[in-house]
Amino acid sequence: MDDPNSTCILRGRAISPGLAEGSAYIHHDMVRLLDAAVAIEKKDVEQEVGHLENSTAMITEDLLALAARVEHEMDSQLAAVFDTHQMMLNDPALKKELRAEISGNLVSAGSAVKAVFLRWEKRFLLMESQMARQKGDDMRDISKRLTNALAGIRIHPLEQIPAGSVLVARRLLPSEIIFLAQNSTAAVLLEYGSTGSHAALFAREIGLPCIANIRQLLKKIPAGSWVLVDANLGEVILDPQDKHQTVFQEKVVAMRESSAAARLLAQEPAVTRDGVAIAVLANVGCRDDTERAMADGAEGIGLYRTERAYMGRMTPPDVDGLLEEMRWTLEPAKEKPVYVRLLDIGADKPLPYTGFMAETNPGLGRRGIRLLCEYPQLLKTQLSAILKLSREFDIRILVPMVVLPEDLATVTECLTRLGSELGILPLPPIGAMIETPAAALSVAAMAPYVDFLSFGTNDLTQYAFAADRENAAVEQYFLDSSAVIFRLLKIAHNDASGLPLSVCGELAGRPAHITQLLQCGIRTFSVAPPLISTIKAAIRDARCNAEKVPD
Ligand code: PEP
Ligand code: MG
Repeated sequence: MDDPNSTCILRGRAISPGLAEGSAYIHHDMVRLLDAAVAIEKKDVEQEVGHLENSTAMITEDLLALAARVEHEMDSQLAAVFDTHQMMLNDPALKKELRAEISGNLVSAGSAVKAVFLRWEKRFLLMESQMARQKGDDMRDISKRLTNALAGIRIHPLEQIPAGSVLVARRLLPSEIIFLAQNSTAAVLLEYGSTGSHAALFAREIGLPCIANIRQLLKKIPAGSWVLVDANLGEVILDPQDKHQTVFQEKVVAMRESSAAARLLAQEPAVTRDGVAIAVLANVGCRDDTERAMADGAEGIGLYRTERAYMGRMTPPDVDGLLEEMRWTLEPAKEKPVYVRLLDIGADKPLPYTGFMAETNPGLGRRGIRLLCEYPQLLKTQLSAILKLSREFDIRILVPMVVLPEDLATVTECLTRLGSELGILPLPPIGAMIETPAAALSVAAMAPYVDFLSFGTNDLTQYAFAADRENAAVEQYFLDSSAVIFRLLKIAHNDASGLPLSVCGELAGRPAHITQLLQCGIRTFSVAPPLISTIKAAIRDARCNAEKVPD
């Protein structure tokens, strides 16, 4: 692992390309940090109890606000969960036991919370009834909130990373990476993480270099050490010597020059060698992405992942809040086609206010359109905001995780009703995301309900190969450019009766597979903004129809 001159070189899997250098910022898992009980002196007991009372009051306030908002946005049954949490948190017996733990065992408020909640959780989990066991899970949830509040975390810890740092972490949730975008982090190094994960694709979207699967990373990189990150090769140089620094600077200059050259043609259309104009659009999640996409030559937005409007906050936005956020995000793409995806949460993209809907197998549970059908208010809020937005933008609607034609019928019905209530016509076109083998094989049945189809090859791969896209341990099964995927695309194309077809999964950003995709009838590609110029160049070099071999 170490080079002959004892500079430490670590290797991992490059999951978002680029070069960066900076000082290492270690992001520890908060729960682990608080593992050991912290002893206090007798004189500090009242202070710790006060600390606990303040945090309890703060969390109570948050839970009440959350309940009110969820009741308005989703339904009162779900809101009741937060009311219950609030009541459990303020249970006099629990409060008494917490106080006794602090004063009797002379431990900090954080340690007392950990010990007491664990006892209560176990008590509930050992009970017979399903309802009591559910309370055990509730206790864990409340304990996490309270532990974070005691550690002073009401905002997310990643919000505080100094700009320009290289983030070093065990793993990263999709809800966490948005803080990095806001903080202009230089690069991300992870102990665990896979190419198809949402964290990886967010990183690619914002051009944030990222290397994952670096063994024992947290043990090897001390906080504050200087690191050179080559996320093209998957290599990290720790405390570099001058010679490493020189070679690295040469690579940076070469990369800048080659991307400047590709960008010269980026604003030009992408026409294949046999004369077919292909649209190259961008996948975005926030305004910075859209600005970058336009500067990089995107002809529109092919996938606006609206999840970010919902992540990193404690309550879902209302119609006006969502409209404002969408308008802000899309404004740089005004006049261009914009494909807005309905909220695709659940499974690997949980939200703080839906965490209570625990499922044993969330990837096969209530995610995407399934969740929206179950909570019509959530669907209604989004469609209302999108309809209002369609007065100003050239909008199309993408429906995520469609499996049955009925999923599309529900959206169409709701859209039509809202369109007439709001007096907005024409209605924006609707398209299905084809992300499961079932959807790919039932395109003929879906065709009457939609105006276009977009292949989400990330999920299509996950479900075709039964390989969790977030799980690095099954990465060898996550074969998103295999013949299996192209076969599904081909079948869907044959059954699509001429509907426009696009790909917005990561496969669209692989130059080596552009020809195959064109030959499956794909005429629109939507990719991470930093890939636009490369994909346009690959299209100019490809043909839609296989070249005739002379006899
Ligand atoms: C996909 O699944 O390919 C897709 C584009 O959606 P997401 O990656 O956001 O699940
Ligand atoms: Mg998907």
